[in-house]
Amino acid sequence: MQTVKSTEELLPYALDSQAELLALERLSRKYDENNIPLYLSYPTSSWWKSSTGPEMFAEKFCGDTPPFLYFHFPYCKKGCYYCMCYKSVSNNTAANDDYVQTLSREISTKVKMLGPEYFNNIRQMHWGGGTPTFLTCRQIDTVFNTMQKHIGFAAGDGTTLSLEGYPDETVITQEKLRLLRDIGFNEISFGVQDFDPRVQSAINRNHDSKAVRALIETAKSMGFSVNVDLCYGLPFQGINELKKTVGEITSMAPDRVAMFTYVHHPLIFPMQRAIPASSIPNSFLRVLMANDAERDFSDSGYYKVGYDHFVRSSHPLYKADRSGGIVRDFMGYSIEDRKQFVGFGSSAISFFGDSFFHNKTSIADYSQDVASGKLPVIEKMGHTLSRDDVLRNEIIQQHVMCDFNIDKKALSRKYGISFDIYFQPEIDILAAYHRDGLVDFPDSHTIRINETGEKFIRHIAYVFDRYYHSKRKAA
Ligand code: SF4
Repeated sequence: MQTVKSTEELLPYALDSQAELLALERLSRKYDENNIPLYLSYPTSSWWKSSTGPEMFAEKFCGDTPPFLYFHFPYCKKGCYYCMCYKSVSNNTAANDDYVQTLSREISTKVKMLGPEYFNNIRQMHWGGGTPTFLTCRQIDTVFNTMQKHIGFAAGDGTTLSLEGYPDETVITQEKLRLLRDIGFNEISFGVQDFDPRVQSAINRNHDSKAVRALIETAKSMGFSVNVDLCYGLPFQGINELKKTVGEITSMAPDRVAMFTYVHHPLIFPMQRAIPASSIPNSFLRVLMANDAERDFSDSGYYKVGYDHFVRSSHPLYKADRSGGIVRDFMGYSIEDRKQFVGFGSSAISFFGDSFFHNKTSIADYSQDVASGKLPVIEKMGHTLSRDDVLRNEIIQQHVMCDFNIDKKALSRKYGISFDIYFQPEIDILAAYHRDGLVDFPDSHTIRINETGEKFIRHIAYVFDRYYHSKRKAA
């Protein structure tokens, strides 16, 4: 039976007094991250308003390295209230039939447009959604057969074909898992979030831990690398609920766990209106939950990578992280520096070196464009990076989110700037963060994010986000 922990047991990272706990509470309130982006890209997609229309699509693509391929499957069996994805709820698997046909046509059009020779040696592909595992075996076969006509996958260890799996044995049957493995998928991520029945009911999910355990065991026995996604800050979730979930998950020994924080924005994500604001843990509780979970992962033999991933020492991310080789992009933390993404399906994003393109988010609009032979790209929802964007992108996504260390000297040299002059306003803000104990200045060339700062890492990244700061100034 789980017992409620004492204040002393909850003290995070070597806090040894009530005063320090109160100091952490003050920081948690001051640096509440609910309104801070996750920084899976910079600028974040809400600032993509320029025209990177269809005519620029082929022009911006450069085939230096085989692109990363992303396929979006928008249909879900039921809608989870916390969800921030582009999806459509349908209990009818036939809805996917039309979509699969449209997607097949888009694959053929895009590959021909960009150059079939660049799709012969693909090393990385991901199916996301929505719920890709909501496809029937027949539909999976259809998509994969189309792919094989246009796309060749590289043989060997470095090739990763991954997908998101809804952890329900009626959605992912043994037959479906076997089919996915046979066609080459070797990595699967199960979105578990939390096992507590009250938390699940508040977000409209229902996963049985026994079924999840069986699915993970089966996937591992078939040779899949297994990831699990957990979420903290969910309605009615507390330290003990999350602790129990983490305990169950670590006992199932997935290869990698990502622990995301719930972001409550009911105006942007209407399904979140079903979640009472009063049921959501406050920022202090969220920090304590993350801290406690981190300790439990560590006690169970997992290592922290980045600020929200936990892996076993056998996982490639572990080695890459210890040698300073991880990167952050749309897919979270990775060992591959993916310079080019080609996205397929409604709402999918493509990124070619310096330009983002966004496919139409409405399935009807997307399908209509593809049917009429057009690229389904939104005209005014793209972005081409300026030189300032490239610099800030590197600071936010690499130096802050991966390295926890801003190397001012290296950035000054690389971009031909004086860091201290170029970023004078940001340095002034960071001086206040230093007084709050979030960052250190060990020498004149370095800004180091310390253990306390890691808990508010998105706030530190946010300091360098020119778009949000210019909005604030204008307001
Ligand atoms: S969380 Fe996943 S399964 Fe739930 S509605 Fe969102 S995309 Fe669909």
